[in-house]
Amino acid sequence: MSEWLQCIGCGRRFDPSEVRYTCECGELLSVERDVMPRRETFDARLSSRRTIDKSGVWRFREAVLEVDENEIVTHPEGATRMYERESGVGGRESELGVVSSDPRPSTPDTLFFKHEGENPTGSFKDRGMTVAMTQAKRLGARAVACASTGNTSASLAAYAAQAGLRAIVFIPSGKVSTGKLAQTLAYGATVLAVRGDFDAAMQLVREASDRLGIYLVNSINPFRIEGQKTIVWELLQDLEWNAPDWIVVPAGNLGNTSAFGKALGEAFDAGWISTMPRLASIQASGANPFYRSYRDGFAERHRITAETIASAIRIGDPVSHAKAVTAIQLTNGIVEEVTDEELMLAKREIDEMGIGCEPASATTLAGVRKLHAAGVMKEGERVVCVLTGHLLKDTDAILRNVPPERTIEIDATIDAVERALSR
Ligand SMILES: *Cc1c(COP(=O)(O)O)cnc(C)c1O
Repeated sequence: MSEWLQCIGCGRRFDPSEVRYTCECGELLSVERDVMPRRETFDARLSSRRTIDKSGVWRFREAVLEVDENEIVTHPEGATRMYERESGVGGRESELGVVSSDPRPSTPDTLFFKHEGENPTGSFKDRGMTVAMTQAKRLGARAVACASTGNTSASLAAYAAQAGLRAIVFIPSGKVSTGKLAQTLAYGATVLAVRGDFDAAMQLVREASDRLGIYLVNSINPFRIEGQKTIVWELLQDLEWNAPDWIVVPAGNLGNTSAFGKALGEAFDAGWISTMPRLASIQASGANPFYRSYRDGFAERHRITAETIASAIRIGDPVSHAKAVTAIQLTNGIVEEVTDEELMLAKREIDEMGIGCEPASATTLAGVRKLHAAGVMKEGERVVCVLTGHLLKDTDAILRNVPPERTIEIDATIDAVERALSR
């Protein structure tokens, strides 16, 4: 067998055709393989017109999932843009203020934004979902389920529609943005609005999938992680395999932090990159259990009741905690927290660069500001911020924060236009 499931705790191996999310010892599973291709294989596919080569996930297929090509469920996804911006972007620092008291812009020289909001359903979740859904079909699943703060549910609903599977999503009632909920319903999913928070919905969907035999596609599912690794590989490829100094990622359920660590470890071991970037995982301070553990030297796993405006990361008991600890240790990474005020300020900056993202994604820039002010990130370092979700995912959060005078209602006369613009 060249691909298998392996317990991250006791190391026990399982056949990947078994429906299983955790080991008998209770720990998470990881997909492992013994052969990795050369990176030239991936580069050669950049000029191909084939759908699986154009997918930013399946372009890396030998290192993602061993599967017959015609079994793949792909939109396609990935192949997102990388935006390069100078520090002090747009000269707006003085207007917006920076997080530090330092009057100079608190950024390294060059910032890159890898915009995962440009995936087919508007978030990075599609990268994991294409792999989990492909695996669901191979296993003969008829229904798929997840707990979600909104983006996983939208992605699951879209891919289940494509695969012809029933989609069932568990959301915390009243806690998912209107756009994400509407999107999930539009793709045809059944929505169970759980009276409780995300962590309660997560518990419930795990029980329900065991009891009802529904295939679970949360990031506890190790095949999701395999897809999400390609965010890192694609950004490395975007940089012509010259690894950046830092990769900055929002941290909620910790699937991405885990996937990024695994991706970097594999890229380094396979010789695709010659230096190891440091991971910076950024949490909202009201939803910071991983940050608390980091501060303890990971002596303890924290579970809290989470509250933040960034609903995508409003998670108090992250499922992938153990894998994320490994990711931080492997990359000499760090975990930081930012307040809602700091992340919304950073969101406005990203929005006003003409790039835009949802609130959770802006923890990246807010984190960069803070880490740079603290001297952790240094002048001249190359930093990639991964923007996880699209601007339009959470319009309520924008409209609540835009000053009302930015919209001027006028009569349909040229005089009214002149008056309005001269104010
Ligand atoms: C899911 C999500 C996150 C959190 O990612 P994890 O892998 O759960 O840590 C961050 N931002 C957005 C927009 C998301 O949808």
